[in-house]
Amino acid sequence: MNHQMTISKEDILDAITKDEFVFYYQPKVSLVTGKVIGAEALIRWVKPDLTVIPPSAFIPFAEATSLITNITRHMFPKLVSDTMVLMDIDSSLSISFNTSAKDFEDEVFTRQILCALEASQLDGHSLQVELTETATLEAGDKIKANIMPLRQAGLGLAMDDFGKGYSSLDTLSKWPFSTIKLDQGIVSRMLESSKNATIVENSIRMAHELGISVVAEGVENNDQYQQLLEMGCTKIQGYWISKPLPLSQFISFVEADIRWSGLPIGLIHMAIMDHVQWRKHLVSEVVKTASLPQDVRRLRYIDTPAMGCTDCRLGKWFYDAGQVFKDRHAFQQLEKPHCDFHNVGQELVRLVGSGASIEMLTPKLSELSSLSMVVLGHLQTLENEGLMDMHAAHREWVEHALHPENLRA
Ligand code: C2E
Ligand code: CA
Ligand code: CA
Repeated sequence: MNHQMTISKEDILDAITKDEFVFYYQPKVSLVTGKVIGAEALIRWVKPDLTVIPPSAFIPFAEATSLITNITRHMFPKLVSDTMVLMDIDSSLSISFNTSAKDFEDEVFTRQILCALEASQLDGHSLQVELTETATLEAGDKIKANIMPLRQAGLGLAMDDFGKGYSSLDTLSKWPFSTIKLDQGIVSRMLESSKNATIVENSIRMAHELGISVVAEGVENNDQYQQLLEMGCTKIQGYWISKPLPLSQFISFVEADIRWSGLPIGLIHMAIMDHVQWRKHLVSEVVKTASLPQDVRRLRYIDTPAMGCTDCRLGKWFYDAGQVFKDRHAFQQLEKPHCDFHNVGQELVRLVGSGASIEMLTPKLSELSSLSMVVLGHLQTLENEGLMDMHAAHREWVEHALHPENLRA
């Protein structure tokens, strides 16, 4: 049946009155811990005869007629009560919900959210607003002004369908997004050509540099899953993990505490690039400053990267997500040269600050490069070993899946 043909404004208003809309929850999984980290709330229209109507049958119509704001405001209290139930099970979960730019044309919805947060004592971090890129592109400053207080209250803001629209980069720089959701189209095409793979990989890298999280959407098979692990993606959502589930089933899903396997191998590559960038940044600043005449130099602000060995991006990874590799020899070898490298970096900054010439700095610059090479060597070994393990595990998985007995089952 084509529901779109038959739905009218009255049908939607009637469904609101009769309370026929519910949320299903599609799990999101961390590729670092392998655990469920939250879900996206997706609306369903459950008719009295229990047929479930998908959003594609009525959301575009509701958006075109502005009835979407009626639906959003009607559904938000449900989202809050569902989220409260989920928080009692696992307070680290984060639930995202879809909004339309129309929802933020005035400040009513923003106020509704802030009041609900206060009344429910929910932490802002437990909720995340999803907005499509097209919506943000079309939106004016008023809409941004209505979204800002939500960011200030700790809510996340995700750019939905990233890679589907036009000027993602421009929008990203202008809006305070905390997450991008890679569109399922681009995720499914990434294995078809190296160009598509490059787009996905560079989107992940760019988001990493901007301090924005990435969720890959529409992950449907193990090949995509493995590829995303290799590319350094840290969160995924898709049928490979689970379809959207009614609340009770999502609760069972969380309670089952399933762990998805796989080494977050792509993060090693991120760490390699982070380290190289850090070194380039520091060396460039030091050399630039040392080349200036002394009187100009004194006035120059030296724009250093994060100087401590636990504060740089490699350090942050090492003491947090990287710990999954703590049993590896190459990982254990990394800490000392990395901290020595930072100590030399600090000495360089001190020397240049006290007026040292390029000639005086050169031995220290060489020492910095040598330590950097040691650091990169260990990271490279770790990455190579990880890739070998990952592909061996993948091969085993494929052999198991293709075994005639398993195919018959
Ligand atoms: P979306 O926000 O991009 O949501 C993702 C859609 O992809 C969902 O469809 C989800 O069920 C589907 N999906 C998830 N994993 C896979 C996969 O591995 N393969 C494939 N082929 N599909 C996957 P759904 O639930 O039918 O929602 C469709 C769209 O309707 C959503 O797209 C969103 O734009 C809109 N929508 C859903 N709920 C709401 C809502 O509460 N408010 C508003 N304004 N829009 C909503
Ligand atoms: Ca969405
Ligand atoms: Ca999407």
